[in-house]
Amino acid sequence: MFQKNKMTVIQSDITKLEVDAVVNAANKELLGGGGVDAAIHRAAGPELLEECRKLNGCEVGKAKMTSAYNLPAKYVIHTVGPIWRGGRYGEPELLKSCYESSLELAQNYDCKKIAFPCISTGVYGYPSESAAQIAVNTCNEFLKEDSTILEITFCCFLGKDYSIYRSILRDH
Ligand code: ADP
Repeated sequence: MFQKNKMTVIQSDITKLEVDAVVNAANKELLGGGGVDAAIHRAAGPELLEECRKLNGCEVGKAKMTSAYNLPAKYVIHTVGPIWRGGRYGEPELLKSCYESSLELAQNYDCKKIAFPCISTGVYGYPSESAAQIAVNTCNEFLKEDSTILEITFCCFLGKDYSIYRSILRDH
């Protein structure tokens, strides 16, 4: 069965969401960057960077958890998406692993609601449509086996991404 009732899409700024965990599309250093990473650090405040400094970075496809400080969320899950290099360098598997690693952390911390941005589809250049397919399929597979997470929100910043997720979720 498709876990449609537990997956939703919205067009919003992820820093505004009152969920248990928001996922950050970070880079390997975990010391801040552009796009959603910058927005999360700006809204969470400088203590987030202080905590991130102690984490010694993160590998591509993996995830690490911090507190969310001034965000309405409780936690930030920092994951490092692959840089798109044409698709034959393991990018799909690494992107899938970002979603899996983030969901495993959320589950371990008993998070009920989690929100994802469109990982890798900004500066890292992953094609939006195939990234969204991986996001939805990976979350769906995870939800089939899990009873902790009640709601996964795909938080799209761009109208283009919002439309893509809407149609993927509608067609299932
Ligand atoms: P990456 O380096 O993984 O590509 P980016 O931050 O450049 O990360 O882009 C990832 C996605 O985050 C893009 O779809 C971008 O539109 C989106 N984004 C940027 N700012 C925000 C925000 N405040 N809330 C949610 N999504 C955002």
